[in-house]
Amino acid sequence: MTVLQPPAFAPSATESTSASFASAEASPFSVLVVEDQAVMRAALVAELRQAGVTRVLEAENGRAALALFSSERPDLVLLDIRLPGEDGYWVARQLREAEPGEWTPIIFLSGLDNDLDVWRGIEAGGDDYLVKPVKPIVLVAKLRAMRRLLDMRRRLVTVSAELHLANQKLNEMVELDALTGLVNRRGMDRILHAEIAAARREGKPLTLMLCDLDHFKQFNDSHGHVQGDECLKQVGRLLREVCVRPRDIAARYGGEEFALILPNTPRSGSMTFARALGQMLKFLKIRPPGATEDLQLTLSGGITTCIPDEHTSAESMLMRADEALYAAKTQGRNRFFSFEMQMDTVEQRQL
Ligand code: GH3
Ligand code: MG
Ligand code: MG
Ligand code: MG
Repeated sequence: MTVLQPPAFAPSATESTSASFASAEASPFSVLVVEDQAVMRAALVAELRQAGVTRVLEAENGRAALALFSSERPDLVLLDIRLPGEDGYWVARQLREAEPGEWTPIIFLSGLDNDLDVWRGIEAGGDDYLVKPVKPIVLVAKLRAMRRLLDMRRRLVTVSAELHLANQKLNEMVELDALTGLVNRRGMDRILHAEIAAARREGKPLTLMLCDLDHFKQFNDSHGHVQGDECLKQVGRLLREVCVRPRDIAARYGGEEFALILPNTPRSGSMTFARALGQMLKFLKIRPPGATEDLQLTLSGGITTCIPDEHTSAESMLMRADEALYAAKTQGRNRFFSFEMQMDTVEQRQL
C-alpha cells in the first residue's frame, strides 16, 4: 500500500514568514538570476540562499544568461525583463529554443506591474511573473510551486521512459520462441517484410531458407519429446551461430522447421552457406540417455534468392522456399534445394 507523504515543501505550522524553500530530503536545486542591477541582483541572491537554494548563478545580461544556461543547466530561471541589449522576452524565447522537449521554469521579474508585461512574458515562454521589489515569502512560494511542477514533470518523464522500455521488452518477448530463444514466426514475418523492402531499395539479393529436420517424428518416438525439445534447442543454437552477419536472422518457423533470412546473399553464396550448415550439423553431438553412440541429425532445406521487385512479397518468397524444401525432401533429404537454380547441394557438389 502506498502511504501519501506531505509535499516536500509544504510549510509546516511552525514555519516563519521567511519560509525555507529546501528541506532535508530535497535534492540540490539551482537557480539562474538574470538581473542587470547589481544591488537588486545581490538582494535576490541573498534571498535565494536564505531560502535554501543550493546553487545560485548570476548573469547581468541576456547573452551571459544564455551561455550560463547551456553550460550549467539550472533548474529554474529568474529573468528580469529590462536588460541592457536584448531584453528578457528575447532571452526567454532563446532559452525555450535551446531545450526542445525539455522544460526549465522561467519566472519574469519586472519593476512594472503592468498587465501587458505579464501577457508578453507568458507569450515569450515564461511561466510566472514577479514584481520588484520581490517579497521574500512570495518568491519562496513561487519557487515551491514551480519546483512541484518540475518534480511532477520529471516523474512523468521517468515513468514514460520506463513504460517505453517495458513496451519494447514486451514486443521482443512476443516475437521470441520460448524453447529455442530464436525469433518466432511472428518476428520472422515482420523481419522478412522489412528485409524485402530494404533489398528492393538497395537492389541487393535476399535469400530465404526454410529448413526442416529429417525424420524428426521418429526421433521423438524413439527418445521422447523431452529429448526432442533438447535437440531443437541445440539446432537453434547452431543456426544462431551460423548467422554471423549482423542482419542474418535465424527463426523458428514452427515445430521442427526453421527459417533463415540472409540479406545481401546471392544464389551461389546461399548454396555455400547451406553446405557449410550441413557440415556443421555433422559435428552436433546428440546422444539421448540410453543411446550408445551419437545420433546424426540431418536437415533438408528450401532456398529462394531474388533481388525483390514490386511483385515480390513475403508470401511469394515463402511459397518458393517451401516448394524447394519439398523438392529437397523428395530427392532424398539431407540437402538444400535452390528454387531458382533448380539444383540441390548434393548435385552441386558432384558437378
Ligand atoms: P520429414 O523428414 O518428412 O520432415 O519427417 P518428420 O518426421 O520430421 O516430419 P513430420 O512432419 O512427420 O513430423 C514432424 C515431427 O516434429 C512431429 C513432432 O513429433 C515433431 N515436433 C514438432 N514440434 C516439436 C516440438 O516442439 N518438440 C518436439 N520434441 N517435437 C516436435
Ligand atoms: Mg533591469
Ligand atoms: Mg516439418
Ligand atoms: Mg521434419
